[in-house]
Amino acid sequence: MTETSSSPVSHATLGVPFTLTSGAERMFPTLTPAQVERIAAHGHLRQIRPGEVLVQPGDQNVPFFVITTGGVEIVRPSSANETLVALYGPGQFTGEVNMLSGRPALLRVRVSEAGEVIELDRDHLLALVQTDSQLSEIIMRAFILRRVELIAHGLGDVVLIGSNHCSGTLRVKEFLTRNGHPYSYIDLDRDADVQDLLDRFRIAAADVPVLICRGEVVLRSPTNQQIADSLGFNEGIDQTQIRDVVIVGAGPAGLAAAVYAASEGLNVLVLESNAPGGQAGSSSKIENYLGFPTGISGQALAGRAYTQAQKFGAQVIIAQRAKRLACERKPYAVEMDDHMRVPARTIILATGASYRKPSIENLPMFENAGVYYGATFMEAQLCRDEQVVVVGAGNSAGQAAVFLAQTAKRVHVLVRGSGLAESMSRYLIRRIDQNPAIVLRTRTEIVGLEGNNHLERVRWRDNQTRSIEAHDIRHVFLMTGAVPGTQWLDGCVALEENGFIKTGPDLSQDDLAAAHWPLARTPHLLETSLPGVFAVGDVRSGNIKRVASAVGEGSIAVSFVHQVLSE
Ligand SMILES: Cc1cc2nc3c(=O)[nH]c(=O)nc-3n(C[C@H](O)[C@H](O)[C@H](O)COP(=O)(O)OP(=O)(O)OC[C@H]3O[C@@H](n4cnc5c(N)ncnc54)[C@H](O)[C@@H]3O)c2cc1C
Repeated sequence: MTETSSSPVSHATLGVPFTLTSGAERMFPTLTPAQVERIAAHGHLRQIRPGEVLVQPGDQNVPFFVITTGGVEIVRPSSANETLVALYGPGQFTGEVNMLSGRPALLRVRVSEAGEVIELDRDHLLALVQTDSQLSEIIMRAFILRRVELIAHGLGDVVLIGSNHCSGTLRVKEFLTRNGHPYSYIDLDRDADVQDLLDRFRIAAADVPVLICRGEVVLRSPTNQQIADSLGFNEGIDQTQIRDVVIVGAGPAGLAAAVYAASEGLNVLVLESNAPGGQAGSSSKIENYLGFPTGISGQALAGRAYTQAQKFGAQVIIAQRAKRLACERKPYAVEMDDHMRVPARTIILATGASYRKPSIENLPMFENAGVYYGATFMEAQLCRDEQVVVVGAGNSAGQAAVFLAQTAKRVHVLVRGSGLAESMSRYLIRRIDQNPAIVLRTRTEIVGLEGNNHLERVRWRDNQTRSIEAHDIRHVFLMTGAVPGTQWLDGCVALEENGFIKTGPDLSQDDLAAAHWPLARTPHLLETSLPGVFAVGDVRSGNIKRVASAVGEGSIAVSFVHQVLSE
């Protein structure tokens, strides 16, 4: 049970720039004297004077302060004025999730009333949350809720100027959002007083998207990597030391591996080319992941996993693509976009897959709300006795059509080519031909999807006659194949014909001979044809395309990493 005393005065959010959405006492808890004493054992006492600045925005590796007497205010400075974000008094503490990652501070911490604080550096804070489960619960929850509140109110160190009609603006918004970074947004098309700002920073409308970082640095149409560099996402991460395990990809599989490996004492570095969460991060609601009976958004799941990995000391490099695996000798090394090279005793490949998607304008709106990339029992239940569309001419499309025809009223198979003979197995073509519930529509493609919260109507075009038909169909299965994130591996590990990585028992004697497998033992489960290199989740041949299986594989691989490290 959580033991916190209630604060006699509400110190938090006076001068309120935002209204607290819920649970102020969880976001700004007041610790009991016994809890403060336990923290004091990890840090040292420091006298504070009114007006003294303890943390400036942009400071790195900021300390954690627990106020014992006096008071501290959290403000967001800007050129025109200052916004008071929170006030802390005795028993309360400063900080939010940046303190775990070592990223630069977003806000200023200034003394409002003379007194005394306990100061802990980041390493001691990490040791505290890793060893004291009661304090860990209180501190981690407060950090996460504070970050959520900062995001909700755009209280950070970045202003994005852009237009919702500009794809670059949408990319930057997505990158900041999926990395959980708070920002305020000014829309060129809607905000009347934007001209002043444009003049002050000499920005032309053609420059958008423009990012103003800490009121100083102006980035015009920046890449994700430039944004990550400017906001210090990867600062303080030593990229030269040899890691016990380097994990490539921070989707569910990579993050699970990071949490288990770091919590079991391994020195872990994760490389992610975009943002934590992978495919799951783009899902509006995951309803079949164990422990979340009302569902959880992919973004929330990814955010929690990312924070959990950092709590245990895993380091995550953002917006850096792994470009090459140096596999000729040990230690292996992963080379990245910016010519950095990270050496590793073992490697977990968790680069997932991306689905080939037809270019239909509002497709993302209907993903998981009528558009699916897999046809399992769960999806089949959703479209029982309804009409469905299956797009694709390969075996996965054929299998999906035959399977769905068992429960659906009618299955329309749409293919762009003139038939299936070149791309689908004969037995499936025969089953499709013989099944009266399946209609094959060749030289046909989807040109429109309509609906509000769920897909309701599909328009497709017959490319021979150019005629367009609209049908009230609520379920579309895009079975046009997934592309695994393995192009950069360049022959280091054995792949199956579609490019997915072979592991463990899937590796034949021929595969091992071709790879010059050097050990007396056979590869462990999830181990590739290169000893000490593992593959987990959607990038692995025979994967299950589920968050739970990706998470499971990430955690299983860590137990074999231990075995390899002790070999
Ligand atoms: C819209 C949508 C909804 C879904 N809904 C559900 C659901 O409800 N339930 C369910 O169980 N499953 C669902 N899935 C499937 C599930 O999300 C995936 O099975 C799961 O995310 C696979 O996890 P992964 O970590 O193996 O790979 P991914 O999620 O694909 O993550 C791979 C990560 O690796 C990174 N990466 C790739 N290449 C490199 C490189 N060279 N260097 C560095 N990083 C790299 C990528 O940026 C990505 O972040 C859904 C998928 C989608 C697309």
